[in-house]
Amino acid sequence: MKNILILYTGGTIGMVPTENGYSPRAGYFRGALEALPELRHPRLPHWDFLETDPILDSSNIAVEEWNKIGAVIAANYERYDGFVVMHGTDTMAYTASALSFMLENLGKPVVLTGSQIPLCEIRSDGRDNLITSLLIAADERVHEVCLYFGGKLLRGNRATKYSADGMMAFASPNYPALAEAGIAIRYLDSALLPRPGGKLRLQRLENIPIGVLKVFPGIQFELFESIMTETLRGIVLETFGAGNIPAGHGALLPIIEKAFRNGTVVTVCSQCPQGTVSLGAYEVSGALKRAGAISGHDLTTEAAVAKLYYLFSRGLTRDQIKASMELDLRGELTVHG
Ligand code: ASP
Repeated sequence: MKNILILYTGGTIGMVPTENGYSPRAGYFRGALEALPELRHPRLPHWDFLETDPILDSSNIAVEEWNKIGAVIAANYERYDGFVVMHGTDTMAYTASALSFMLENLGKPVVLTGSQIPLCEIRSDGRDNLITSLLIAADERVHEVCLYFGGKLLRGNRATKYSADGMMAFASPNYPALAEAGIAIRYLDSALLPRPGGKLRLQRLENIPIGVLKVFPGIQFELFESIMTETLRGIVLETFGAGNIPAGHGALLPIIEKAFRNGTVVTVCSQCPQGTVSLGAYEVSGALKRAGAISGHDLTTEAAVAKLYYLFSRGLTRDQIKASMELDLRGELTVHG
């Protein structure tokens, strides 16, 4: 029988109602799971339970917590066949992206899941999300960090939170679902990552100063000049369409050039959830390229942020980081041509 470790980090699935709204309560969720007889069904793998300290609403999860989650998986890697990380939905796609980079040579399933309605409520979606995630975490076909929600298994670093209140809260606009859970769980084998060669290695992340800037019509780039200092190591520009920015009376490019001179890695992503950046396709994006920005291709912003944290934490040179940002490391990006 397969052995799975469930790690509860917080999030709606294990929250309880309080005077101030739903909130996680330490020590509660283990008992709530033990009270569900179906979770010990003979068709399910055996599972053990751990919770992080503290358990958090995922809005409060960042680098420090990613390191804790990664450390739990690395420390228990040989003892378990797979891992289910229960997490709030708000930043689940960021955590999934970060773990996908941090867990180098991952050869076992790491499935993030949660719910839109707490398990203690009658219409909770948490029960199916957890049961199906346990089955996926016991499947030897999966060697990657993925996210299961509302009937779909998505690659973690391709997922993005798409709905604030729908039961299918996540989308993967640039990559097919790895599996669909209907009557049976059907895997798209060709979409799964192959089993890696080496041994698992955990790359801890550092709290690198990075930023995300979304352009909009009328943006006054001068206002952002003050953040483009030597301290800022990387920035993700969320641009229009295929990587376009307003000409802004020429204000942006000197700022990008300044960022470039300061050593900041400027990565261009798109505000469109679907499709890819193509720097140089239009005059307004070619200038970005000439100013030293690099293309994030079809990376989600979540994956771009996580990848910057990861590459800087590995201590690479800026040129290595720029080159790696445009490479496919964990199935997070599609390299065309
Ligand atoms: N605020 C919650 C969280 O991200 C939302 C959820 O879990 O769905 O922790």
